[in-house]
Amino acid sequence: MNRIVIIGTGYVGLVTGVGMAEFGNKVICSDIDKKKIDKLNSGSIPIYEPGLDEIIKRNVKNQRLTFSSNIKESILKSDVIVIAVGTPEGKNGQADMSFVFSVAETISDNINDYKVVVTKSTVPIGSGKKIVDLIKNKVDNPKLFDYVSNPEFLREGSALKDFLWPDRVIIGTDSKKAYEIMRNVYRPLYINKNPITHTSIETAEMIKYASNSFLALKISYINEIANLCEAVGADVHKVANAMGQDGRISDKFLHPGPGYGGSCFPKDLEALLSISENNNVKMETVQAAINANNNQKKRMVKKLTNLFNGDLLEKKIAVLGLSFKANTDDIRKSSSIDMIKGIINKGGFVNAYDPIANNEMAKIIKNVDYFDSLYDAVNEVDAVVIMTEWNEFRSLDLKRIKRKMRGDIFLDTRNIINMDELFSLGFTYDNVGRIKK
Ligand code: NAD
Repeated sequence: MNRIVIIGTGYVGLVTGVGMAEFGNKVICSDIDKKKIDKLNSGSIPIYEPGLDEIIKRNVKNQRLTFSSNIKESILKSDVIVIAVGTPEGKNGQADMSFVFSVAETISDNINDYKVVVTKSTVPIGSGKKIVDLIKNKVDNPKLFDYVSNPEFLREGSALKDFLWPDRVIIGTDSKKAYEIMRNVYRPLYINKNPITHTSIETAEMIKYASNSFLALKISYINEIANLCEAVGADVHKVANAMGQDGRISDKFLHPGPGYGGSCFPKDLEALLSISENNNVKMETVQAAINANNNQKKRMVKKLTNLFNGDLLEKKIAVLGLSFKANTDDIRKSSSIDMIKGIINKGGFVNAYDPIANNEMAKIIKNVDYFDSLYDAVNEVDAVVIMTEWNEFRSLDLKRIKRKMRGDIFLDTRNIINMDELFSLGFTYDNVGRIKK
């Protein structure tokens, strides 16, 4: 049984920890945030992720999963050390590596016998080598550790499924011994023939950025196609469906919307751009994806304003959905932030509702009224705007909403509402790239 410590019990660290415990390893999830660890130890889960609660409880009960804020002791007890701290956007779009390097320092101070040091955080290409040098310079015997880049591809909202049944696991290392240990950590996957790919460290680091940037590019592309559909009278859903039937394209990530957000795409694209600039390699497609996404967020506010003939002054708008996508309470870089700020800047007022992300949004935006019930949020409003594709918004009682509103404007930035119904109920409405009656 491998003994593993995860350093950084955020979204990725927690899911990785519980996932590796589920694979049969003995895992300590550690963090410098003592409150978070205390919370976990008392049985409460700091993030919203479907199914997480249950699987954590099961692995704690069978003693394969523990939580600790004593990072040094946890390192001493473990053979595999997984770095899963944040790498937020830093200066000039570069990834801020200070958390990762600080963890590398802690590791180098506490290596007592052979360890595999694994980076799961998304780090710029070349970081692995820097981490190896940093640790090598501090330990007496450089053979005491090997290094692995093991990027993570989970999606918030389906993180557990993505971790337990991944499309691929990338193990980037120069060491055969470390590779075998990592294969063993992921043993149930390789028994089930899930593809485990062995690469160099740099290739593994590149795979993560190349994958995320491509997905973001795909979103920006379909958003721009949707905008053109509006101008020429085509229906983007039919276009996207037909495009997706082509196996070379695939139908995934071809859903038009209000622009991508979240803790990964925006910062990872900026980081890739900055890496390409530092290497004097032009990546025009990545810059274009970023620009298109910024435009799309602004375009949603403009759509709303246009529905009011250019004037949002004193208008009361219900914004439904705050998280950057469904099934998560993560609001980082969510398009809802741009929408709310856009409304307030133009003199309007916001009633906000999200099934679980109200508290997160309230931490950064105060001058908004937050509601626990969707139907309370739409009371006496001039307009309703859907910003997140939560399932509960797919089956709205539109008649009831119309009765409660004082106005008749409806903007669906996720294209999840039946337009025929909006039309027949007399709403003045808009969406992203679909033909309207
Ligand atoms: P997060 O902000 O949710 O969590 C980071 C955690 O690290 C926090 O709990 C923080 O307290 C802890 N931490 C910071 N410094 C520490 C230290 N010195 N010692 C111990 N703990 C420390 O971040 P996240 O969303 O889990 O992302 C982590 C990494 O994984 C990032 O590089 C991110 O790009 C990458 N990633 C994220 C996702 C995702 O969907 N969130 C998916 C794939 C990859």
